[in-house]
Amino acid sequence: MKVFNTMSRQKEELVPIHEGKVGIYACGPTVYNYFHIGNARPFVVFDVLRRYLEYRGYEVTFVQNFTDIDDKMINRANEEGITVKELGDRFINEYFTDARALGVRAATVHPRATEHIQQIISIVQSLVDKGLAYEENGDVYYNTAAFPGYGKLSGQSIDDLTAGARVDVDEIKKNPADFALWKAQKPGEPAWESPWGMGRPGWHIECSAMSTTYLGDTFDIHCGGQDLIFPHHENEVAQSEGASGKPFAKYWMHNGFLNVDNQKMSKSLNNFFTVRDILKEFDPEDVRMFLLSAHYRSPLNFSREMMQQAHASLARIYGARDKALFLLEHAKDAPLSEGEKEGAARMDGFVEKFNAAMDDDLNTAEAMGALFEMVYEINTALNEESSKAAVTYALDKLTTLCSVLGLLAKESDALPEEVAALAEKRAQARKDKDWKLSDELRDAIKALGYAVEDTAKGQKVRKQA
Ligand code: AMP
Ligand code: ZN
Repeated sequence: MKVFNTMSRQKEELVPIHEGKVGIYACGPTVYNYFHIGNARPFVVFDVLRRYLEYRGYEVTFVQNFTDIDDKMINRANEEGITVKELGDRFINEYFTDARALGVRAATVHPRATEHIQQIISIVQSLVDKGLAYEENGDVYYNTAAFPGYGKLSGQSIDDLTAGARVDVDEIKKNPADFALWKAQKPGEPAWESPWGMGRPGWHIECSAMSTTYLGDTFDIHCGGQDLIFPHHENEVAQSEGASGKPFAKYWMHNGFLNVDNQKMSKSLNNFFTVRDILKEFDPEDVRMFLLSAHYRSPLNFSREMMQQAHASLARIYGARDKALFLLEHAKDAPLSEGEKEGAARMDGFVEKFNAAMDDDLNTAEAMGALFEMVYEINTALNEESSKAAVTYALDKLTTLCSVLGLLAKESDALPEEVAALAEKRAQARKDKDWKLSDELRDAIKALGYAVEDTAKGQKVRKQA
């Protein structure tokens, strides 16, 4: 598989550090609110990265943190009159509710910043010891000019970074590019003991501490949204490599931004949507389908129209699955016919196409194309004459690829008992050639919201759209 590595600015073959295993760290949400539809993009996209690697046989360790201490957390907790811990607990729960709805699996580990203060302090201490950090009145700053690689991830030089920057009069940093590793306690703020007095970690240091705690000093993939490349991830590189003296993440993957009606999402434009709000109106799997409809590095526009398209596309996939499930009930036990062998070979071809698209920097948009060729194949090549073997083969390929994308998670609509009983009576009525009773039963089934279709292999009952 090739992935676009932000560090080298090109697609590179993914060669894991430990054979057969991949370690991934993804920057998670700041848990001061429900997450928004923009945040949902990296959650869903990198969940698919993980599923795809597992499907290809890798053992994946997926770490996604919760930022549960920062200015936003402190302000919101104060507004609500609760502790920062209580606020964090609440929105971590809400994260899992919405993530689960979107089909995002729980990570292998979900570390919280406030539970890794000792690891954070130990990295800051080793940076101070190495002359890569300095203390000023209980704050500790990273000394960016002392780290030769500063700027390498975002492709800027330290001179670019300092030239335009304005230094405030009360600035205590040595260099405008320097950033806080540790912040001295201000009145009313949560704080922990440290060699520099009571205080709390800066934002960037938590991800250096939590990624290396669970994945080691050097690991495979670090991901997040494009907005995090600078300064957050640049600073993580400086912190981690500065402290360990070893390379940090081997590959950096960044998702493009999601806009709403072609505008940046913001509270002031009134186009800011939490996933919780969106799920009142749209099916969560439609949201997932929409988020995977574009390549993860492309910008993506959220609109009602795009959601309707996603809904229609997903309905076609479900339609093909339900058709195959229905055929399976009556299909004959027979080996693949010559024609069916050709159909199975075409299905194999679509699987290869899907894999090739995903191998090319996780191109879900193209992979969807292969999936729709499968849907077309099922709709055109399978029918009531198809053998069980042929239907099973096609159904298995379709569901396997869909589960890589986290789609088709809904059970097939099993008939409610009442409908099933009426359908059984109706089948008997038709055997008895009692057409009047058969029609009455059809109406009764219809009144319960189900449509009946008579086919050569018997009646087909399905929920009305
Ligand atoms: P935050 O809680 O703001 O730190 O964001 C959590 C994740 O969502 C990070 O990976 C961000 O880069 C990503 N993110 C935030 N806004 C957007 C957006 N509009 N589109 C895509 N990704 C975003
Ligand atoms: Zn992070």
